[in-house]
Amino acid sequence: MAVLDRLRNLWPLSNGPAPSEEIGKDGPLTAMVIVAHPDDAEFLCGGTVAKWCAQGWTVYYVLATSGDKGTHDEALSQQELAALREQEQREACEVLGVKRVIFLGHPDGYLQPSIELRGEVVRLLRQYRPDVVITWDGFRAGFNHADHRAVGIAVRDAVYPAVRDHLYYPQDREEGLDAHQVNEMLLAGAEDADYQVDIGAHVDTKMEAILCHRSQIGGTPEEVKKRWMDRMQASQRGRIVESFKRVTIRRSNRPQQPPEKKTEQSTSAQS
Ligand SMILES: [Zn+2]
Repeated sequence: MAVLDRLRNLWPLSNGPAPSEEIGKDGPLTAMVIVAHPDDAEFLCGGTVAKWCAQGWTVYYVLATSGDKGTHDEALSQQELAALREQEQREACEVLGVKRVIFLGHPDGYLQPSIELRGEVVRLLRQYRPDVVITWDGFRAGFNHADHRAVGIAVRDAVYPAVRDHLYYPQDREEGLDAHQVNEMLLAGAEDADYQVDIGAHVDTKMEAILCHRSQIGGTPEEVKKRWMDRMQASQRGRIVESFKRVTIRRSNRPQQPPEKKTEQSTSAQS
């Protein structure tokens, strides 16, 4: 917890709206959901994505891996499993209204919060320019998949400060991709969630999207739906919500253009 407290102190938090103020209240925004595996996003935020898409938002998905390890079927190769999971994910995205899904193709289970992964995320943020990013809470305590931690940390480090400052991954600028500011990050799976999205009107769409992941879901559609409805209603006293830790990133005070070079005299006068 000490690490978390330190991070909260260091983070450029909440100079803007209070956590209860709804993201997107002034109109549709662009969002990017960045997770580790096929089906992560449907369970974490499928209702939120369905709601946003219904409201006219543009939503992109990025999957760091294609879930190529999670099977007990010895007849399936990793390539076959990855192709199956990608197809299921595309179907789920179609149900939700996601504009595009991007697979980074890292091996399932071996993800690291590396400089390279951070750079891949930065590049996509600069390319698609989302206002809001949803990812895993990489600092969630307790039992968690290593890939969830890794992608959460890499995305967090990409959103602040790398994507904003053009000297990080300067090759992006050579390709015409300018620096970008993400305004809001919603961390899924967080133990200290402070932001809820009411998905009551979109829960059927979420369930339909979850059920697209046929190779990962056990039970009949009715059983799956009942299990998840019971769980969501039990945790929120009857309301059906998805919960996140909200991080609002204030704009940099730094000037957009570099200041004119100071003369030696003016520099010394300031010191
Ligand atoms: Zn996962």
